[in-house]
Amino acid sequence: MLRSKLPDIKTSIFAVMTQMANENNAINLSQGFPDFQVSKKLIDLVEKYMKKGFNQYAPMQGVFELREQISKKTFELYNHKYNPDTEITITAGATQAIYTTINAFINEGDEVILFEPAYDSYLPAIRINGGQPVYVQLKAPEYKIDWNEIKRVISIRTKMIIINTPHNPSGAIFTEEDIMMLRKIVSGSKILILSDEVYEHIIFDGNKHQSLAKYPDLIKRSIIISSFGKTLHTTGWKIGYCMAPEKIMNEFRKVHQFTVFSVNTPIQYAISEYIEKEDEYMNLSSFYQEKRDYFISLVSNSKFKLIPSKGTYFQILDYSEISDEKDVEFAKRLVLEFGIASVPVSAFYHNHQDNKALRFCFAKSNKTLDKAAEKLLKIS
Ligand code: PMP
Ligand code: GLN
Repeated sequence: MLRSKLPDIKTSIFAVMTQMANENNAINLSQGFPDFQVSKKLIDLVEKYMKKGFNQYAPMQGVFELREQISKKTFELYNHKYNPDTEITITAGATQAIYTTINAFINEGDEVILFEPAYDSYLPAIRINGGQPVYVQLKAPEYKIDWNEIKRVISIRTKMIIINTPHNPSGAIFTEEDIMMLRKIVSGSKILILSDEVYEHIIFDGNKHQSLAKYPDLIKRSIIISSFGKTLHTTGWKIGYCMAPEKIMNEFRKVHQFTVFSVNTPIQYAISEYIEKEDEYMNLSSFYQEKRDYFISLVSNSKFKLIPSKGTYFQILDYSEISDEKDVEFAKRLVLEFGIASVPVSAFYHNHQDNKALRFCFAKSNKTLDKAAEKLLKIS
């Protein structure tokens, strides 16, 4: 008989809400993706490499030129040089890097600490590999980490801690103090850290991204994951990467080669040339800060309460003054009755905790945001 490995996992909320938005012709601020165009230069580069014949398998670990550019960018930004030969691997988006990391290192009974609300792909990957998730709650509305709670839950079985800054769905970010606490807590242990930094270039109000690549004592135990989907407005290309010390990366690659072997060749070449000449990702923060501020200004007169977003392209809106419906029900009603789609925040909790909050993606043209706000202002 068919016995499910993930009996209580359903279709991802991002797929569900996007499909619902499409079927109902609603404005889709649910799944996180931009609705504006990719740079023409970048598209031309993909075409150039396709026409030049770069259409066969890339090396298993990724195109060297791209790994070299990633190494350079990481050094310039965070002052640590990862060896492109041995310490960087190109993946099919951050999603595959996350799955492969957990698959490579988590064995039956290993405990993995994760913060909730948590991006949806961590938990199934832990479970399917026999790991034991250990949840620590981030306290709404600021979604700050209570480090005393981490101290309390760490055990000899703790194999990995998963962190995510800037944080999806809350938009919270790690401060220097958070990093200091993390360093203290793992010091002297064998704990690995999976650091999901896909929003590294989307951070607001002059704050600096706290990459673990800035801290030598954390580098030696960390797998840092990022994605070009966010940085180049190309979520559909599914090109991400991870960086880790050689010993860790060797184990990662053993699994990676049998998961995808390698990823899209011409796009890797195109991105490597593009990020060599362009430093567009350096302006992403101000680009998205403007979007955030525009969206906030549009909805500030609505009945929703705004939870401050310090990074990512998401804004949480609290609807507790509008309705006491469950967030999933409320989100569905907003699609059907008002024509606007969001993601209920309970989808980021293993027990579907309901904070009466919805996540909206503001990576959209101002025209889309105008239309969205028009609808949001009608909800009371
Ligand atoms: N981690 C986080 C926190 C994300 O928000 C996302 C997707 N937006 C991913 C990982 C997956 O990235 P990718 O689309 O490159 O697989
Ligand atoms: N990361 C995107 C989000 O948070 C969605 C990715 C996906 O659809 N799996 O909305």
